[in-house]
Amino acid sequence: MNTYDIATIDGDGIGPEVCQSAIAVLREACGERLRFTAWPGGAAHHARTGAVLPEETFAACRSAHAILHGAAGLPGITYADGTEVGNDLHLQLRFRLDLYANVRPNRLYRGVRSPLAGWEAGGIDYVIVRENTEGLYASRGAGVNLRGEVATDTLVVTRKGVERVARFAFELARRRQGAPRDGRRRVTVCDKANILRSYAFFRAICDEVARGYADVEIDYAYADAITVHMLKKPDFYDVIVAENMFGDIISDLGAGTVGGLGIAASAELGDSHGLFQGAHGSAPDIAGQDLASPLATILSGALMLRWLGERHGDDALVQGAARVERAVEDVLAAGQTVPRDLGGQARCSEITQAVCRQLG
Ligand code: ATP
Ligand code: MG
Repeated sequence: MNTYDIATIDGDGIGPEVCQSAIAVLREACGERLRFTAWPGGAAHHARTGAVLPEETFAACRSAHAILHGAAGLPGITYADGTEVGNDLHLQLRFRLDLYANVRPNRLYRGVRSPLAGWEAGGIDYVIVRENTEGLYASRGAGVNLRGEVATDTLVVTRKGVERVARFAFELARRRQGAPRDGRRRVTVCDKANILRSYAFFRAICDEVARGYADVEIDYAYADAITVHMLKKPDFYDVIVAENMFGDIISDLGAGTVGGLGIAASAELGDSHGLFQGAHGSAPDIAGQDLASPLATILSGALMLRWLGERHGDDALVQGAARVERAVEDVLAAGQTVPRDLGGQARCSEITQAVCRQLG
């Protein structure tokens, strides 16, 4: 029996509640196969110690098989120069471990009402792959402000950056379960190739990569138009690949169509490392009150199981992922234990227990 070392970082705000919830569920699903070790980090840790990502935490994350994270960031905690610490823990891990693909599934579960009228479970089931290391956000901290009159940022698109994320998207389209209504495997490239050369370059490289995947259809959508398509014909999509900022925006839009950030799973993957955490932030307004929904983190844990299982040829983990997703879906469909952000009353601890019981 293979076993896996999982480095966990609770982080800030609701991070500890949702991270501990996911650990309990993953233990229930996989028992002794997963060895969890908790490590410190985040904004509150910075306030106490001066380190947002302690070196021993980073070393543990680098050597673990996977990383499970609650959430990081608290308002009002700053570095000596006055800039906010925010979720720097997460950003440092992303860049230092080169987690270039942010995977955001948009799947409507049974028991969740989509704000889009007429859509039911099974109708919305696609994945957004956001390029996570360059694009417009590569400019972060480097924007130029000329004498208080002008500010500019730079959108960076590299051949290497697009090739690897495009290849990731096509590989995912090949193997993922769930299909668009017409049953065609498809990668939709989301850009503004009509306006900016950087995006035309992004699209051209995606085209080159697509030639190696004759079994997967390539499709294109401008970033403005896709926001309408995602509302009107979500069942057309399979895998969408997008530059960093567009991917950020459309993945939250997509989450809105399937129940919101409280149920939106996220995985940040590179060639050697994977970081798993819900798509939401640390929600300090509801922290420590047992009010948060742990579902986004639990479902991110399921993504972790599938990623580990596929990487290590371990079917038991892949099946564990499906079992966790089914347990969440069964709990929601039963309607007794529904988190507040999905219209119910259930507390974080009650949801955790219900999902564990469903698995048991
Ligand atoms: P970040 O900048 O880290 O992305 P954010 O400003 O987008 O953070 P979040 O922390 O994601 O904000 O939360 C926004 C609001 O959504 C919270 O204040 C909270 O009310 C709600 N929220 C977020 N996550 C959850 C959750 N897991 N369960 C319930 N409510 C949540
Ligand atoms: Mg946010």
